[in-house]
Amino acid sequence: MKNIAFIGLGNMGGPMAANLVRNGESVVVFDLVADAVKQLEDKGAMAAASPQEAVKNADVVVTMLPAAQHVKSLYLGEQGIIAHAKTGALFIDCSTIDAQSAKEVGAGAINAGYAFIDAPVSGGVAGAAAGTLTFIMGGDDAAVSRAKPVLKHMGANLFHAGELGAGQIAKLCNNMLLSVLMTGTSEALQLAIANGLDPKVMSDIMLQSSGCNWTLQKYNPCPDVMDNVPSSNQYQGGFMVKLMNKDLSLAMEAAQQVGASTPMAAAAQALYRMHQLKGNADRDFSSIFELLGNA
Ligand code: NAD
Repeated sequence: MKNIAFIGLGNMGGPMAANLVRNGESVVVFDLVADAVKQLEDKGAMAAASPQEAVKNADVVVTMLPAAQHVKSLYLGEQGIIAHAKTGALFIDCSTIDAQSAKEVGAGAINAGYAFIDAPVSGGVAGAAAGTLTFIMGGDDAAVSRAKPVLKHMGANLFHAGELGAGQIAKLCNNMLLSVLMTGTSEALQLAIANGLDPKVMSDIMLQSSGCNWTLQKYNPCPDVMDNVPSSNQYQGGFMVKLMNKDLSLAMEAAQQVGASTPMAAAAQALYRMHQLKGNADRDFSSIFELLGNA
């Protein structure tokens, strides 16, 4: 049996680690938030007192952190997990970060004799809980092959996008599109409501029409249209506005580097920044629905 270390047990990492445990893997967990560790311990994982302790006997290390600065400080340097890992370990970073940082951290691991892939995910907290995430991997074939049996416990779709960092580029392109779909869907629903239509009926119409998209199918932004989504829970849990803004900044940087034109994402970014400045940083990203309403 493999020993797996899982670091970063937030909205996504918590249910992902739980799925590894549920599938019979031996999992050691660590997070800065003690309660997040306790929840996994209650489900059968072993708790580590530090990231260094978590990785010391691990064959595979999975990380799921907010942003690049967290990933770099966890992996690199004398106290970093690369310096404390077991010989031959494979690192899988599932956080969404910029491709350059993924390459830098990956090179740090590979130069020290370890294997590393970037493997950001799509599918949201519901996908994390159900074990149906999409993993988008960047790295060499050997490392990707080693990662697949572990990722299969947490996901339904595994893609190999290309070399180190390619998973992050693919993920940013996807989330850039998601921001446009979420703002556009919110705008359409609010227009229907302002004209006296029932948002549930309007959603059903669009689901069967040419406006159909993932936000309507899985993540309706209007409260009480769908059960078990953040909009029906005061926009709690889910994917925070500040994380969507992080991803949009990364996508715009990536666009700038190659001179790409991204006017739709620029509009979505302006809306999400405004929404964050109005005090919504920690709410789910579907709360953009409120910004676009008349209330
Ligand atoms: P989150 O803020 O809920 O969780 C992050 C966790 O990392 C927290 O529990 C935090 O305490 C922990 N952490 C931070 N630094 C740490 C450290 N040095 N050591 C140990 N733990 C540390 O965020 P999330 O929503 O789970 O997202 C994680 C990543 O996944 C982000 O990069 C995000 O962009 C991406 N993502 C999120 C979603 C979503 O729907 N929430 C979907 C796809 C991808």
